Amino acid sequence: MDHRDRTRQIHVGRVPVGGGAPVSVQSMTTTKTADVDGTLAQVYALAGAGADIVRITCNDVGAAEGLAEIVPRSPVPIIADIHYQYRLALAALEAGVQGLRLNPGNIRKPHQIRAVARDAKDRGIPIRVGVNAGSLDRELMARYGSATPEALVASALKEIEYLAEEDFHDIKISVKHSHVPSMVESYRLLADTVGFPLHLGVTEAGPPPGGLIKSVAGIATLLLEGIGDTIRFSLTADPVEEARAGRQLLEYLNLRERTGLDLIACPSCGRAEVDVLEVASTAQARLEEAKLPIQVAVMGCVVNGPGEAREADIGIAAGRGRGHLFIKGKVVRVVPENEMVDALLDEARKLVAEGVEARIAAADDLAADLAAQDRQVLIEIQGDANRAAARRAAVADVAAR
Ligand code: SF4
Repeated sequence: MDHRDRTRQIHVGRVPVGGGAPVSVQSMTTTKTADVDGTLAQVYALAGAGADIVRITCNDVGAAEGLAEIVPRSPVPIIADIHYQYRLALAALEAGVQGLRLNPGNIRKPHQIRAVARDAKDRGIPIRVGVNAGSLDRELMARYGSATPEALVASALKEIEYLAEEDFHDIKISVKHSHVPSMVESYRLLADTVGFPLHLGVTEAGPPPGGLIKSVAGIATLLLEGIGDTIRFSLTADPVEEARAGRQLLEYLNLRERTGLDLIACPSCGRAEVDVLEVASTAQARLEEAKLPIQVAVMGCVVNGPGEAREADIGIAAGRGRGHLFIKGKVVRVVPENEMVDALLDEARKLVAEGVEARIAAADDLAADLAAQDRQVLIEIQGDANRAAARRAAVADVAAR
């Protein structure tokens, strides 16, 4: 059984985390929290981009007061991010937040941690023990020499002990590192050690594309091992981008239901009969605008396109000045090349409304024959790079011996 199915389930407001709950997406606002309207606008944008939970800094009294106005108007649960000042954690609880994140590296006094735990327990609010390699407890840094996976896990365990002394167990944990292999090792060690839900992230990942690649490398590796109950991409970018990336990653890993477009496109090659990059980006923009929750393929040629993308819900491939529209690999319409994106949009809408079987049944009578002809002509002109006919003959020959 995966670690995420065995973890203790907690609730951040109405969002369950752990115990087999759907992996949730988190992001963090970049506005000044005292700017209530600006922060709320960003919270709404993050929720719209796929964030299930939003974290907001609570770094001074003005921020805590801002939270009191933001939380009741937010469409998603709010977690207050606390560093250094435990009193701000108490203020955030009073403001009504649905979760706290404490950094054990900079709130170290046990009586302060325990005071927060008591209040959070009374209010039924969970706490994330948010260990970060960049701000590790000085004592642990000295003992371990550097921010090793063992040091990060030791920091989390120490904090959990303080919380347990107040009989506080509604905990999730993160052990973030900016070095991807260290991040992965830290979480693996943590998953072997505790049964609390884990919040995954590569800290300070940087701007895209590097930040995205680091985050995906670390987070996806662990998710595929069954580790991780909630995730955050920490990008140096508009946080909407990190919320969107987090949501997309979960959809691509089949950990969340598809709510948006999944566009696949061939990388193009010498066989391409159309500018794949241009068609793919035009199609992507228009399909995203249409908000259709389907997988769409844009393929450069009809020779290999429909076959290679036969798993896609719908796709288009180019050949001899025409666009071949296919559903689950079956060509349903052949249209002039300059109409292919319009036809794709039109058919995608119908597909979402009517379903695969109905749209395959409504295929143009001549589409399959036209597609086969175009394909054959191109193979004759360009050659059969896959040598399909010769291979079939060789296989039949071997089988007949
Ligand atoms: S689908 Fe056609 S154009 Fe695209 S990479 Fe494959 S062979 Fe090349």
